[in-house]
Amino acid sequence: MPLSLIALGSKINLKMSVEEKKYCLECNTEIKGRIDKRFCNDYCRNVYHNKQNRDVTNYMRRVNNILRKNRRLLAKFNPERKTKIQKTRLMEEGYNFAYHTNVYTTKKGGTYFYCYDLGYIEHEDGWLTLVIKKDYVK
Ligand SMILES: [Zn+2]
Repeated sequence: MPLSLIALGSKINLKMSVEEKKYCLECNTEIKGRIDKRFCNDYCRNVYHNKQNRDVTNYMRRVNNILRKNRRLLAKFNPERKTKIQKTRLMEEGYNFAYHTNVYTTKKGGTYFYCYDLGYIEHEDGWLTLVIKKDYVK
């Protein structure tokens, strides 16, 4: 075999062995041993998974806070069973219309959005009717 081909062959081998190296997902240390290992030890595995869980917990906390605030505003503006309010009024107070817990569509095609037991239906004129749900969970 010509020398250049031998050299090429050893380069390919070198590249392949580099690609086969695996690194710990947590500390980036090279992992020796089984090819399916993702962490160098239990400590790194635990740290990694705890971080993942913390992110999920933080996200859930933020969503819960939004829902709580939304419900508080619905309660504030709907002390009776049914009230009308302009949508912009709720927006000014910081209501987040992207979040709700459940949705109810009427036979006529209207949609009620609820934060827990309190909700609203939007009208085309920019007004909302605020309502209270009596049977909380189905
Ligand atoms: Zn590690």
